[in-house]
Amino acid sequence: MPLIVQKFGGTSVGDLERIANVARRVASRKEQGNDMVVVVSAMAGETDRLINLAKKITPAPNERELDVLVSTGEQVTVALLAITLESMGYRAVTYCGWQVPIVTDDAYGAARIYDVPKEAMERDLAEGRIIIVAGFQGVDGKRNITTLGRGGSDTSAVAVAAALKADLCEIFTDVDGVYTTDPHITGKARKIGKIAYEEMLEMASLGAKVLYIRAVEFAMRYKVPLVVRSSFNDHEGTLVTEESSDMEKESVRAVTCNTKEAKITISGVEDKPGVASRIFSALADSHVVVDMIIQNSSAEGKTDISFTIPEVDLGKGLEICRGIEEYFQAENINGCEDIAKVSIIGLGMRSYSGVAAKMFSALAREGINIEMISTSEIKISCVIRQKYAELAVRILHDVFELDKAT
Ligand code: ADP
Ligand code: ASP
Ligand code: MG
Repeated sequence: MPLIVQKFGGTSVGDLERIANVARRVASRKEQGNDMVVVVSAMAGETDRLINLAKKITPAPNERELDVLVSTGEQVTVALLAITLESMGYRAVTYCGWQVPIVTDDAYGAARIYDVPKEAMERDLAEGRIIIVAGFQGVDGKRNITTLGRGGSDTSAVAVAAALKADLCEIFTDVDGVYTTDPHITGKARKIGKIAYEEMLEMASLGAKVLYIRAVEFAMRYKVPLVVRSSFNDHEGTLVTEESSDMEKESVRAVTCNTKEAKITISGVEDKPGVASRIFSALADSHVVVDMIIQNSSAEGKTDISFTIPEVDLGKGLEICRGIEEYFQAENINGCEDIAKVSIIGLGMRSYSGVAAKMFSALAREGINIEMISTSEIKISCVIRQKYAELAVRILHDVFELDKAT
């Protein structure tokens, strides 16, 4: 029997009516003769509400206890969906993260999955039950509750689909699929029919929150066929799959922006071997993920190092840098949250020249200053002031004519 994993995000389970809508979708797939595993997020806004409660007590809540708190949102929705399905005459069974178990490391708030045993779920499927798994939740080797990072229910779904070798993993959300840019930023955004894992991975890592980056990594590694579609209509979604010759071939396929990063600048540090190693090792030891790094050429034996990290880690990052300052004698250590990273992405960039020049000129024409640049074979990113973020996205979407299909 075909096995389908469906994941429903926060907006799709935002109230009881929407949960009933989800139950009807799941039931109709079940009636078509599929085995069904459903992964759900917390109701829209619930995770934020819980985090804010903890932050009212202290700006830096204990990380273990914060995961105990925020993981509760998903426990509510799995139960409500199971109760709904049972009331419709279906047999359903819920699994919290620890019951699967979704085994992770102990990096609270951003835990990585390293095992998803399938035996218990297979037994329930064989008995005809619809399985409902709490997204976002994990459990570490010492039975502590962990969570997988904001947006992590996507990862739960793909990991479960990979473990069970599902025939399809459908990610239901509040838009019709993956677009050329966030459709809430410009009405000109166009839905992409089919996109390669590699492009989707760049888009996710550069701010297109429609899919969480680790979910795409998982899908790519285990070749899980992934479809992103709306839970509010039956429009065809976007297929995320391996690169193929029938995919669109423009140089640029999508524009993204990320306003959730912050920049740390360490100025006037001694230009000697070991400084960068010291700074970035200390950050890595504390699980702070560094993105762009720029080091200026040195003058009189001193140099400046700037780098970007997730905005939520700014306090922690500054504390770490200040804690090891004695090793590199910095004149100043500064944090700045007022930045945005805009990026253009496309597999076709490999074979086109002049793409970067076109991007930089478009930003320059609007008087937008570029503070940092980073490139890879299939993307170019620029850090700019946050107030220009949406304007930059619209300009780049226009300049590269992403509203037009090829
Ligand atoms: P869910 O709660 O279902 O997980 P998310 O809010 O995490 O939903 O992700 C869906 C949102 O992602 C959309 O509402 C949209 O604003 C945003 N988004 C950003 N970039 C894109 C893109 N390129 N294509 C589609 N949606 C995007
Ligand atoms: N509820 C979690 C969040 O809001 C996980 C998810 O929705 O994917 O980040
Ligand atoms: Mg999401």
